[in-house]
Amino acid sequence: MAEDNSRDTGNSTVPKKKGRQSAVCANPLYPCAMTGAASALAGISDMGVIIHGSSGCYYYADMAVPDTLHSTFIVQDEVIFGSADRLKEIVESVSKLYNRIAVINTCVPSVMGEDIKEILADYDTVCIDAPGFIGYFDEGWRLAVKELAQYSAVSDSAKDGNEAIRADGDNGVYQVNIDGVCSLDPFYKGNLNEAGRLLNLCGLKTAAVFCHDTYEGITHPSPYSVSVNPDYNCADIINRHVYGDDRKSQSACSLLGLDNVLKTFEELSDNLPETDVDISKIESECEETDEILTKAGDRYLRRYDPPRVAVYSTYSYTEFACGILTEYLDAEIVHTAARNNPPDQSSDVDENSFNIGGICSLHQIKDILSETESDLIIGSSFEHAAFPDSAFAGLTFPIRHRKMLYDRPVAGIQGSLYLMDEVLEALENVAKNE
Ligand code: SF4
Repeated sequence: MAEDNSRDTGNSTVPKKKGRQSAVCANPLYPCAMTGAASALAGISDMGVIIHGSSGCYYYADMAVPDTLHSTFIVQDEVIFGSADRLKEIVESVSKLYNRIAVINTCVPSVMGEDIKEILADYDTVCIDAPGFIGYFDEGWRLAVKELAQYSAVSDSAKDGNEAIRADGDNGVYQVNIDGVCSLDPFYKGNLNEAGRLLNLCGLKTAAVFCHDTYEGITHPSPYSVSVNPDYNCADIINRHVYGDDRKSQSACSLLGLDNVLKTFEELSDNLPETDVDISKIESECEETDEILTKAGDRYLRRYDPPRVAVYSTYSYTEFACGILTEYLDAEIVHTAARNNPPDQSSDVDENSFNIGGICSLHQIKDILSETESDLIIGSSFEHAAFPDSAFAGLTFPIRHRKMLYDRPVAGIQGSLYLMDEVLEALENVAKNE
């Protein structure tokens, strides 16, 4: 029987200690490991991704991941007599379309006990055993990135000259990776645009985009990275394989929130000593934006009380939203729970500044919010459907209650403006109607 990965402590649901963070994907609020692996690898434009499983698994992943996916669509015959022939047949046909192939195992073939690596030993494929019962989206995402790093280290002799190729690129212009781009995130394209804009502002170019690039780009990264969402960082894993233990590369620093933007670019400027990185435009834009946000917050607080807010998103977004709302609107965070575990698993997760709880079911959220007064909910369409009359801002997959045609950022300077804009609109519209 699936265990819930949380425990109630009064008003908040706090994650248990390290080691308890992996759980079977028992909570339908966030996708399973297979979808995470599919999202990480399908972002590689010249890699064909095959979901080895039933049509249900394929359509679930296809609904969540915007990039093209393929499937073996196994049925009862393969489940009873074995799926090896079907798997080889699909790998051969998809190989005609892509340079590289990744195969992701799902629950049924995994339970059948077939070894897909052995079945595909004669084919050049990356095989990921990521059935939903190993955990949530993030488990599969990380597993896929690790397998990809190992695969590229073995299959490519790409170590020599990587740094020269990507860090100090054409005309001596330094190149920096953009990390944390996850296609499940409704804001990933906006984040990518904003990160590229910020790098441009100080004369830097974009190197690899993790995980939304070509295979060549991702396996030949720069040692330097910035991250639009540290929950989905993979530069560190890939760079460890590319640059080894002597690598100059470091984990990508966050671009969520103005303070992090400034800190990240200051660190980048320190880490690129041979070049003059001019971050003055970033500094002045951050200053102007801070004034805009302060004025907007003050204007709201002259008319209304500080809002009571409940926040449900992935961990880093949750932390960012809580931070901006408490800083500029004096918000009271009445309840908050992340869809996933904190990116830094080595830190004590009980000691986060906003008491961000662990993975919560919609039932738990409904129970807690029914007994807690809140003025604003930040989350996904699930929370919106549960509390349709509440002021609401979408920050998490899935967002289906509104159109998302325009590429909105959450990261960077524009991301702070966007979130504050959404929050103030939602709060003031509900206040006017009341
Ligand atoms: S891999 Fe497992 S948990 Fe994920 S969609 Fe398929 S059956 Fe469901």
